[in-house]
Amino acid sequence: MSSTAQPTVKTYQNYIHGKWTANAASQTFPVYDPSTEEVIAQVASASASDVDQAVKAARAAFDSGPWPQTTAQDRGRILFKLAEKIRQNAAMLAEIESRNSGKPIVEAEFDIADVATCFEYYGGLANKVTGSVLPVPANALSFTLREPVGVAGQIIPWNFPLLMAAWKLAPAIAAGCTCVLKPAEQTPLTALEFANWFEEVGLPPGVVNVINGVGEIAGAALVTHPGVDKIAFTGSAAVGKIIVKSAADTLKRVTLELGGKSPNIFFADADWEAAVDGALFGVFINQGEVCSAGSRILVEKKIYSKFVESMTEKAKRIKLGPPMDRDTKMGPLVSKEQYERVGSYLELGKKEAKTAIGGGRPKGFGKGYYVEPTIFYDVDNNARISREEIFGPVASVIPFENEADAIRIANDTPYGLAGAVWTRDIFKAFRLVKSMRAGIIWVNHMQPTYVEAPWGGYKQSGFGRELGPWGLEEYLETKQVFVNLDETPIGWY
Ligand code: NDP
Repeated sequence: MSSTAQPTVKTYQNYIHGKWTANAASQTFPVYDPSTEEVIAQVASASASDVDQAVKAARAAFDSGPWPQTTAQDRGRILFKLAEKIRQNAAMLAEIESRNSGKPIVEAEFDIADVATCFEYYGGLANKVTGSVLPVPANALSFTLREPVGVAGQIIPWNFPLLMAAWKLAPAIAAGCTCVLKPAEQTPLTALEFANWFEEVGLPPGVVNVINGVGEIAGAALVTHPGVDKIAFTGSAAVGKIIVKSAADTLKRVTLELGGKSPNIFFADADWEAAVDGALFGVFINQGEVCSAGSRILVEKKIYSKFVESMTEKAKRIKLGPPMDRDTKMGPLVSKEQYERVGSYLELGKKEAKTAIGGGRPKGFGKGYYVEPTIFYDVDNNARISREEIFGPVASVIPFENEADAIRIANDTPYGLAGAVWTRDIFKAFRLVKSMRAGIIWVNHMQPTYVEAPWGGYKQSGFGRELGPWGLEEYLETKQVFVNLDETPIGWY
């Protein structure tokens, strides 16, 4: 192949009832490499009628066929086999994830390892689901059964594509649900590659279906479909609100993992080097395209100027580059749309605050949706850059006077996904832990995420929890059973 040859553009279809299926009208959409802006795949776009087929397949697999007869042990084994496939093919999956989303290959490798761990975790949990016996009077017996919710529609974003799929599919399979997964239109490729192994690991047709397409069409059709019992959604708060409204007519169970504007709080007594690193890592990892990004950096006034200076100096060393380069710390943003969106916030930030570093496109990049790591400081917490989720490498640094001031600013946001506090004072740290209104709090760190621990938000960051046993609960119903042991007639009339 000559050096000017175009990369192969692979085509993908929808995975419905165990078969690769073209869009009914043969419509496709392009999928890009955001570092080169080139098309790397063409993907079948699901229409409402394709979604209907997928839901019917999932419904049939839930209501009859081999799946309802599968034991919890069998489902656990299937999950372990999926994990094994992921580990065996980790390099291939990480490369596709990196090329398709723009995330550095080293981070993509961590993500894929976490995907396998997630399937292993729920593989182990599948046969630990139990009901309880209840203390009713002696002449009766009462107990609970835990049963799968039914057909789950699962809609995911583009920032951690296969990992977000894993967080939803693994507990659903463990619980005995069937699924229709809709990946984000920008990044469907790893989920589609993953579907290649479903049959081999023993998932009966229809248990997991993967449909591609645009949120307003394929996603919306899934949310309103009467055959779907539950919607598990990860994405923006704006779309989360649409989903709650459109799921209301069929009263589906809904869980929402939405965005955030998380405070990362630094007190003067924090370990200096660790704190500065933690501020940068918290907001710039994955190009800032992280729901829990520590994008509001609150710094105690005593150290404020020096902290901004240190952050700025260290930020100069963050290496931007092609995602497949192992030295790259930040790749391009996922898409042109996201690049333009973040760009408009950069212009706004220059008006609302002072710029310490960044604020635009890095020099020397001809193609690709690259954005410099940007630090705005002296930001008022009422500024839009401090209140709205930017979802890019943009930090707002805000000074605070004292502990009470830090808590006030930290909680003054419509969101409540996560937060972090950095201090050597254990009393202060735990006072902050208790005062911050968010679903995840880190002390002297930001972003570590483990499958064993719950993930989810307060306030407008959503409701419901993923991961750990909490994630499995969201796919289970509780049935109460009462057994009369007294043969005497009721004698009511
Ligand atoms: P969006 O809300 O735009 O999209 C998320 C998913 O919803 C996509 O698959 C999208 O489809 C689909 N969608 C869009 N419109 C509709 C609709 N009307 N009905 C049904 N589905 C629809 O989010 P992004 O993809 O831009 O992802 C970024 C957001 O995700 C951020 O706000 C981030 O904070 C949040 N997020 C939250 C996480 C958490 O755990 N709390 C984790 C990761 C991200 P398509 O894109 O294909 O058109």
